[in-house]
Amino acid sequence: MSTKPTQGDATRIIHNRRHADAEGSPYAPLYTTTTYRFEKTADLLNVISGKDDGNLYTRWGSNPTIQELEQGLAQLEQAEAALAFGSGMAAISAALLALGRNGIVCVGDLYGGTQELLKQCQLLGFPVTLLLKEQQTELAQALHTPGMLVYCETPANPTLSILDISELANVVHAHGALLAVDNTFASPINQQPLTLGADVVLHSASKYLGGHSDITAGALMASLELVRKVAPWRKNFGQIIAPEVAALLARSLRTLPLRIRQHNDNALAVAQAMQNHPNIRRVLYPGLPDFPGHALAAQQMQGFGGMLSMEVDGGFEQAAAVADNLQLFLLATSLGGVESLVSQPCATSHYALSAEERRQRGISDGLLRLSVGLENAEDLIHDLQQALARVFS
Ligand SMILES: *Cc1c(COP(=O)(O)O)cnc(C)c1O
Repeated sequence: MSTKPTQGDATRIIHNRRHADAEGSPYAPLYTTTTYRFEKTADLLNVISGKDDGNLYTRWGSNPTIQELEQGLAQLEQAEAALAFGSGMAAISAALLALGRNGIVCVGDLYGGTQELLKQCQLLGFPVTLLLKEQQTELAQALHTPGMLVYCETPANPTLSILDISELANVVHAHGALLAVDNTFASPINQQPLTLGADVVLHSASKYLGGHSDITAGALMASLELVRKVAPWRKNFGQIIAPEVAALLARSLRTLPLRIRQHNDNALAVAQAMQNHPNIRRVLYPGLPDFPGHALAAQQMQGFGGMLSMEVDGGFEQAAAVADNLQLFLLATSLGGVESLVSQPCATSHYALSAEERRQRGISDGLLRLSVGLENAEDLIHDLQQALARVFS
């Protein structure tokens, strides 16, 4: 369910406010409080019964700082409502627990933590089916029971491969299932899955939404109806975001459109420079015209994002040496911060997969994944060139 905005993304997020503040603060102040006092028992009963709006207890989600953040999160994805969580995995686990009991079908590559969580869902008795991106013809068969949940990521990690969200949503809905998309890699500035037919969007806000590698948080955006189904799981599994973190995240969101557009520009510049480098075999970036998913990405995304992968000549040793010789790109997992990061998927995010599983997914030992930050693009390109020159000269 999505609501069409009348203003641009930057205007909307900068002017996201819930209440006029008595002290004149443009945004909700930080309410660190866990509980709220009432004048009379009758007032408390009116709130607890839902007759009146009002705050009761922060773990339940009733906290003005968190609620203003959630209004902003919903707006970014053009959703009716949003829930903020203590981490991306908290958001994903609440969604799977609330909506996945009839069966979860995953399409394409998934974040490693999500793959582990799916194994835990199986321990709880949830039927889980994993399909490769190429196995979409098997999707209809896998959706044999009404009320199942289809789960995917696009662009995927680390190959940046693109799934057609509208096409998936059509198949999923024809079989009475729901579609959930982890939109962490794209960010809501570059892609809004709900407008393409998805039912639930998930984010690790520890990445682009937070944007400074100093916040651990998560978000879920959906229709009010679905948000109401997920909310009790967050409440009773105790997955609420801390108000202090919510205030930091709300501040980060006000620069999200600006940051993402610069991440997009920087990543494209780096991708183009690396594409022409003699020691780089291929660059995987949705913004490059010869990338296999380019046309689809151009259709369903407004920008191509700040993530790219590239295959270095040689193999594991050479790629590791390039990573070790970089000076600006920090050798670290994670993504989406102002600082550029490099990681070697076969040694980090996809370490747990067998060589065969990595081969199936196109993850070679020479692949490096870059999270292109907000430094000057020329400096980032120069850093990559000097590291490559050290290894290959
Ligand atoms: C990091 C990440 C997560 C998990 O988020 P946390 O905030 O670390 O819990 C989930 N999905 C994707 C795509 C991620 O990159």
